[in-house]
Amino acid sequence: MARHPTGWHLLQLPGPTNVPRRVLQAIAEPTIDHRGPEFPKLTREISDGLRGVFRTRHDVVIYPSSASGAWEAALVNTLSTGDGVLIYETGHFAMEWAKVGERLGLDVDVLPGDWRRGADPDAIEERLKADREGRIKAVAVIHNETSTGAVSRIADVRAAIDAADHPALLLVDAVSSLGSLDYRHDDWGVDITIAGSQKGLMLPPGLAFLAIGPRALEAGKRARLPRSYWAWDRLLEANADGYFPYTPATNLLVGLREALRMLREEGLENVIRRQSRFGAAARAAVDAWGLELQCTEPREYSDVLTAVRLAGEHDANRLRKVILERYDLTLGSGLGRLKGRVFRIGHLGDLNDLMLIAALAGVESGLRLSNVPIQEGGVAAAMRVLETSA
Ligand SMILES: *Cc1c(COP(=O)(O)O)cnc(C)c1O
Repeated sequence: MARHPTGWHLLQLPGPTNVPRRVLQAIAEPTIDHRGPEFPKLTREISDGLRGVFRTRHDVVIYPSSASGAWEAALVNTLSTGDGVLIYETGHFAMEWAKVGERLGLDVDVLPGDWRRGADPDAIEERLKADREGRIKAVAVIHNETSTGAVSRIADVRAAIDAADHPALLLVDAVSSLGSLDYRHDDWGVDITIAGSQKGLMLPPGLAFLAIGPRALEAGKRARLPRSYWAWDRLLEANADGYFPYTPATNLLVGLREALRMLREEGLENVIRRQSRFGAAARAAVDAWGLELQCTEPREYSDVLTAVRLAGEHDANRLRKVILERYDLTLGSGLGRLKGRVFRIGHLGDLNDLMLIAALAGVESGLRLSNVPIQEGGVAAAMRVLETSA
């Protein structure tokens, strides 16, 4: 602790992200009565704000839960035991979702991927065309695969499902992209989009979200998986009057209202543009250092995080430890099979140019201190990108 008595800690994870002071102050307000007369106003402002961020006209429900809870909610509300679920292996988070499906008694079919690209729409189309008996009831895709920094092209996945003329629902995990990258629940024909509070929405962990399209609602009426806490029908019913069927995470909801106001003030288009500058700057640094990105497909590069590979003899976790101890800067670790092989620079949420430059400077110096051979000039290259883009 005493090692860094001054200055502040830089939390450059791809979630949880730095929480802005305005949001922290909102959360610190006294807890209010969730059954009181003022509460529906809060619920309504939040619901409207969330619709804007998900870009949907339909309902968005909120659970007090980590984002993983939304995986379970999406499955139990729409499917029955033994239903087929097709999951594209974009990386660690796709495999985690597959495990949730297996534990729930679903017939999970994983389309193998190399953890270096987004979901392949052609492979999905082919697999659906082969499903003549209609065993597959849902296709699940991670929008921004946070373990690799590759973004799946959701509109193309939708087009692939349509081209196969298949009735499967499209379930999308936008946990690390919502409120940061371009995302369109309605326009892209997504049936359920899930998200969490602690990434682009700039809140502490603790809330999970589901945007529910009309086909998912319909499927919910036929779904037979057991559900109680996750059942969305009683949540939707209570929300219609501005309340919840249980005690919601009141203070986090007040924080969420503030975060949604901040996103509205900046404007989603401006947030997306800011993210694209950060992504380009971080990649320019990696390129100048002579290191390799985990994502190999330029049109799928993520603008919310940059996952960097280290050559065999260098341990990415040792590098992260050096950087944390020396500079009080936290970076993301390699997840699943990328453990020790990859480190991840999160650059989403409450962040400005100089915070990103500071993080990249910490990485550059940490690489040198760890004897990872790099070329000079990564930070300078990133600064040039930021200087020349608006
Ligand atoms: C962070 C993350 C999750 C899991 O969120 P938790 O809140 O830890 O449950 C799921 N999917 C993606 C893509 C994520 O980035």
